[in-house]
Amino acid sequence: MQVIEDPTAFQQTCRSAGRVVLVPTMGALHEGHLALIRRAREVAAGEGTVAVSIFVNPIQFDRPGDLAAYPKPLEADLAACEKEGADLVLVPKDGAMYAADRSISITESLLSKHLCGATRPGHFDGVCTVVLKLFLLSHATAAVFGEKDFQQLAVIRRMVRDLNVPIDIIGHPTIRESDGLAMSSRNVRLLPEHRRDAPRLRQALIAARDLLPYGERSAATFVETARRHLTASPFFRVDYLEVVDAETLQPVAAIQRPAVLALAGFYGEVRLIDHIGLHP
Ligand code: AMP
Repeated sequence: MQVIEDPTAFQQTCRSAGRVVLVPTMGALHEGHLALIRRAREVAAGEGTVAVSIFVNPIQFDRPGDLAAYPKPLEADLAACEKEGADLVLVPKDGAMYAADRSISITESLLSKHLCGATRPGHFDGVCTVVLKLFLLSHATAAVFGEKDFQQLAVIRRMVRDLNVPIDIIGHPTIRESDGLAMSSRNVRLLPEHRRDAPRLRQALIAARDLLPYGERSAATFVETARRHLTASPFFRVDYLEVVDAETLQPVAAIQRPAVLALAGFYGEVRLIDHIGLHP
């Protein structure tokens, strides 16, 4: 496994590597990331190259404290990449990815209007910009993303479609802890009492979804059911709780087509997200 810090050197290596499958991450790798790397290994098969990027992308953070507190266990991350069969790891140094006077940024203007796009200004501009750069640096023919960040996945698919980026986007199901909490690099920052409380997020979503077989179709009822579970927590603060169309990500009042109940919120300063499909 080769670890490369310089983005230009990474680009040159990838150019001569043949078929590259990319897994973009911000590091602090957990089983969710490792599942993505394993999937990339399958897609690349024997002869292809699996490239992982580990970069805590400053321009996608809306809260400076969140960026500063983001865990960076680089040694353990590199060992995990090696174990899962990655061939190349890009670990750009701070400042290496963006010119000080950079003046181009990618904006998606429909799918990112709601949910995290509404409560984290500039977040998806930062995501699109770094992901497009990583696609160009890696020359990847495929890239693997987690469905956990389902709005991000939808925005990236839209960017690839609208800009004719020659890459296959592969989604991977969310990997969860045994108690249902979606794995996240931010989970290690939860206080013990918050971590004990956190399975509530998934339970709230399931309680709402379980109304579907009884014929419930009102978005407001799904939201209220989930909200009751969440507000019973002495710790959790809801950021948003919304039903959106699964394809357009626009809010819906009633479930007539596949939809998604999505939530975000805080334990202290730690922001978590999760979602569940509502298929009528
Ligand atoms: P991050 O390091 O949080 O930016 O995530 C890097 C990639 O891993 C993204 O495509 C995420 O959607 C994906 N990912 C993060 N957590 C999980 C999880 N629990 N299950 C599956 N994929 C995940």
